[in-house]
Amino acid sequence: MKVFKFGGASLRDAENIRNVAGILQNYRNESLVVVVSAMGKTTNALEEVVAAHARQNGKAADLYREVKERHYAIMRELFDENDEIFSSVNDTFVEGEWVLDEKPSENYDYMYDQIVCMGELVSSRIVAAYMNKAGLPTTWLDARDVVATDNTYREGWVVWDKTKASALKIVPPMLARTGFVLTQGFIGSTSENFTTTLGREGSDYSAAIFSHCLDAESMTIWKDVPGVLNADPRIFDNTIKLDRLSYREAIEMTYYGAQVIHPKTIKPLQNKNIPLFVKSFIDPEANGTEISSDTDDLYPPIVVVEKNQALLHISTLDYSFVAEQHIARLFKIASDLRIFVNMMQNTAVSFTLCVPDVPDRIEKFVQLVSDEFKVKAENGLELITIRHFMPETVENLKKGKIVLLEQSIQNTMHMVVKNVPPIERKAVEIAGSKA
Ligand code: ADP
Ligand code: ASP
Ligand code: MG
Repeated sequence: MKVFKFGGASLRDAENIRNVAGILQNYRNESLVVVVSAMGKTTNALEEVVAAHARQNGKAADLYREVKERHYAIMRELFDENDEIFSSVNDTFVEGEWVLDEKPSENYDYMYDQIVCMGELVSSRIVAAYMNKAGLPTTWLDARDVVATDNTYREGWVVWDKTKASALKIVPPMLARTGFVLTQGFIGSTSENFTTTLGREGSDYSAAIFSHCLDAESMTIWKDVPGVLNADPRIFDNTIKLDRLSYREAIEMTYYGAQVIHPKTIKPLQNKNIPLFVKSFIDPEANGTEISSDTDDLYPPIVVVEKNQALLHISTLDYSFVAEQHIARLFKIASDLRIFVNMMQNTAVSFTLCVPDVPDRIEKFVQLVSDEFKVKAENGLELITIRHFMPETVENLKKGKIVLLEQSIQNTMHMVVKNVPPIERKAVEIAGSKA
């Protein structure tokens, strides 16, 4: 069997859903588990519902109604008005209403997961119904019956043994009955049957979980780009598609923020040597990118820009050296607060960390270490990672920026930069790119 994943962009309206069904027609004789995300920007809209409910500003119900209305408008284009999909989607949305009818939970992250999961639950209902209507026999599967997590809401950690046992018990009989099984990305369930989510953009990871547990022959994620490019096409011109990529290269890229694939996706596939294809849903016949075991390919420079970074300059209050026990304590606190350290550098009396700029976590960190350390935070920065760098690539990337921290090891270079003044980055060329 194979696993396919379709993200929000591929399901953003009725026309795109028809396109997805068209792609699946070409695989009608295969056993396929299809993992879908919420449609378009639904998750962002549901995040606003959660925030409004938490603030009790009276806007949550209206915002939720808008989300519902967008789905009903798409359904009216795809189905007859008395199709049973309308009541099944309505029943699903009602579960969100129950949460909104209650007082907001003190545990924001818990409440977030119970509401935000609606995006995937309804999109999967709609796509499964449309596939059946299009003559592709499909069983709808609740991913929460398979993907078991701990109770870290908004960032559930997968309980692998349990997930694997459920997957092997539940999915193969469904595939035997209907060639297609359609399920949700992004969501899982705790041992007490509360819904968890796996982190934003986590549907790619869900597909990898299913692929790993079911020993898939391959996994394919369908995107609005021709494959994995050597830089984000929204930021750079003249990007080139990478035909093949090793797992290692893909892990390095996604870890440092290449948004095309969720960073947790690669490892479960690599462990079972399952190839990952990244293909275009706009041009489904084209080859895309194959990510598999190490290749001898020579790579062009690969650039990853991670925005929204902060540098934390840390020094001891008593001006003593920053020693191992200090670093151990700082990392323990960072880890407890789920502050991910992207880069670090020390001198005799100071220690600098590059971390995602999440203000409440950073404030908490500063508070917790204030008995021993002074922390100066520098915000609004970008972390640029360049693999297989060439001098001219680096020079081009530095134009119009102040480099605050720079490190290179083997074929990887990292720079933490600040834009002064803001520059038009579309003009930047990556050396090695085709004109
Ligand atoms: P999905 O619809 O599956 O959620 P995303 O929008 O999350 O898809 O990911 C696809 C987007 O990732 C592309 O539209 C592209 O703008 C962006 N992207 C960033 N870096 C890269 C890269 N190196 N290669 C290809 N796409 C990239
Ligand atoms: N819908 C979720 C999000 O937007 C998960 C995903 O799309 O991968 O973050
Ligand atoms: Mg996405």
